Amino acid sequence: MKKKEHAIEITFWGVRGSIPTPGKEFIKYGGNTPCVEVRCGGTILIFDAGTGMRALGKSLLRQFDGKSMELHLLFSHTHWDHIQGFPFFEPAYHRGNIINLYGGNSVSELEKLILGQMDREYFPVTLFELGSQLNFKTLSQNPFYINDVKIYYTYLFHPGLSLGYRVEYHGKVFVYATDNEILTEPEMEGYNEKNMENLIKNADILVAECQYTEEEYVKKVGWGHSSIEQVVRIGKMFGVKNLFTFHHDPMRTDKELEVMIKRARKISGKNLKVYAAKESMTFKV
Ligand SMILES: [Zn+2]
Ligand SMILES: [Zn+2]
Repeated sequence: MKKKEHAIEITFWGVRGSIPTPGKEFIKYGGNTPCVEVRCGGTILIFDAGTGMRALGKSLLRQFDGKSMELHLLFSHTHWDHIQGFPFFEPAYHRGNIINLYGGNSVSELEKLILGQMDREYFPVTLFELGSQLNFKTLSQNPFYINDVKIYYTYLFHPGLSLGYRVEYHGKVFVYATDNEILTEPEMEGYNEKNMENLIKNADILVAECQYTEEEYVKKVGWGHSSIEQVVRIGKMFGVKNLFTFHHDPMRTDKELEVMIKRARKISGKNLKVYAAKESMTFKV
């Protein structure tokens, strides 16, 4: 009998930070804002509901072909670029589908924020008119389980904070850590490093924001984003195997992104592989 495969498979649907970015200079890596699909066997996790979520919805409907689905949508935080795709996510309109939405604030808070962007003043359909069953869940247990998937979370440095998630599935580890400034100030007394170690240690896949270069970062300290050099440094330090740089700056062209990755590979060493996250790219461990 064939051994059952327990893989984690991810697909990038939106990789751009801050604002959707159309234009010929951004075609290769894509201009949609954050949305990552993560499959652990039959469990479907979705990280963030940026504008990339629209295409994910179409793909799921094609795959399920009229059958109902249960999805788990985990939010890093509710800045616009991480929620704007939700009103355009077609599976949310279909009766029989179940969508569990997880956030770090109280249930009413997450519901209020998602509901707010679908207020009549902003969007023609309200949250109450969607056909699917929406279950808002506040994170309280840490770690917690969704089926046989173990998830640990921690708060990251970002205006208003954001959540980083570590997904463990049959020995494989996927980490989602976006909108995160890796502070190294002495007054933090190593807190941030320890926090990042718990989150990313020995990850097979780390999807981490790398909005800036080292040169840009010095002008943007305190904005809540990291440089690629900082992320490569901690990735190396804590045994990460594959780093996908993510939340690309809206000004970053395809060409510039490739230069950034080349530079990062020079300092990443042989155990850490570095790639730029790209729309519709899949990866499996
Ligand atoms: Zn963002
Ligand atoms: Zn943000």
